[in-house]
Amino acid sequence: MSAETHAAVPIVPGEPVLPEARMHLVRPKEPVTGRIVETRLCTLGGRKAAGIVRHIAIDVSGTPLAGGFRVGQSFGVVPPGLDDRGKPHALRLYSIASPTFGEDGEGRIVATTVKRTIAEREPQKPDDDPADHRLFLGVASNFLCDLKPGDEVKLTGPQGKRFLLPVDPSMHDYIFLATGTGIAPFRGMVKELLEGPAGPTSSRIHLVMGTPYRTDLLYDEYFRTLAAKHPNFHYHTAISREPGEGAPRGEYVDQYVARHGSVFRPLFRSPRTLVYVCGILGMQFGVYKEIAAEGAADGFLILSDELKAVDPRTWTTEQMKRQIRTTHRFMLEVY
Ligand SMILES: Cc1cc2nc3c(=O)[nH]c(=O)nc-3n(C[C@H](O)[C@H](O)[C@H](O)COP(=O)(O)OP(=O)(O)OC[C@H]3O[C@@H](n4cnc5c(N)ncnc54)[C@H](O)[C@@H]3O)c2cc1C
Repeated sequence: MSAETHAAVPIVPGEPVLPEARMHLVRPKEPVTGRIVETRLCTLGGRKAAGIVRHIAIDVSGTPLAGGFRVGQSFGVVPPGLDDRGKPHALRLYSIASPTFGEDGEGRIVATTVKRTIAEREPQKPDDDPADHRLFLGVASNFLCDLKPGDEVKLTGPQGKRFLLPVDPSMHDYIFLATGTGIAPFRGMVKELLEGPAGPTSSRIHLVMGTPYRTDLLYDEYFRTLAAKHPNFHYHTAISREPGEGAPRGEYVDQYVARHGSVFRPLFRSPRTLVYVCGILGMQFGVYKEIAAEGAADGFLILSDELKAVDPRTWTTEQMKRQIRTTHRFMLEVY
């Protein structure tokens, strides 16, 4: 692993020093070929889960991607064929679910976590036929999920320079908040922090995984096993469409965090803590409100003067979109 690092020290106490991750080693115009080495359903409910999500591992040996990526980055997939305008398909990004040392310890096998995009067709543009309800299959996710071991895939990347673990992970504690396939980078990060060559970290790690149904939890057994082994690693689940203990109507990730304030409040208020949020677009807004409600906005959020004067519980999504920026202690990857 040859990624370079900043020699700088943090200017603001608590701010992480991030490694300088390499990007675009492989450009979309000249993608490299990887080979599938593993593909399996990774939902707790297997075939009974509501969504279809696969753990897919790809051998990138002999390409610049081998040893060239860092945990938290993404890679691009260029699906074969042409789109409906006759142009080659655009690349799609997938989060790396492996640690920096890869699935193989050498950074040559990189995994991701892919959800099949599958739905009945819905109008997307004003002139789309509202009566058209044929099956809609996302191009890249279904291409990837159909592949078998030995099949080839065109790849680019890596991409991303902010959603990274700090150079010295022991300087921080971690709150990882995921929905759905947003768990991918956290699988890699937790592996890196607890199973890396440097030995397990003693930093505190809290991972909250949110899914609609319990059967949709991803890598659940892996995280439970790790939590049983490492007392500093805590694995939480927030199920939104099923009743659970203490949440009779189900709950989203931010609601889970709010309900367990005694666990999360001290972490939010500690200058050691970094917050990472990955998953469905919009999940960050509930998290912003929760952090502010815990009196910890200063560490993670940069608010406009207008918002500072308003009770966070009344913040609207529009206000938050326009008037909140995040500090370097808050890492966000939503799609
Ligand atoms: C940084 C980043 C990281 C990501 N990481 C992951 C990851 O780890 N795992 C993962 O699974 N995904 C990830 N994604 C999302 C991924 O890039 C793709 O967007 C996703 O897999 C869908 O791609 P697709 O080619 O299958 O679907 P597409 O063929 O691109 O179809 C999706 C598009 O089709 C349209 N559409 C959707 N539903 C319907 C409908 N019912 N009727 C008509 N049209 C519809 C919408 O315009 C939608 O944008 C990530 C995205 C980003 C930006």
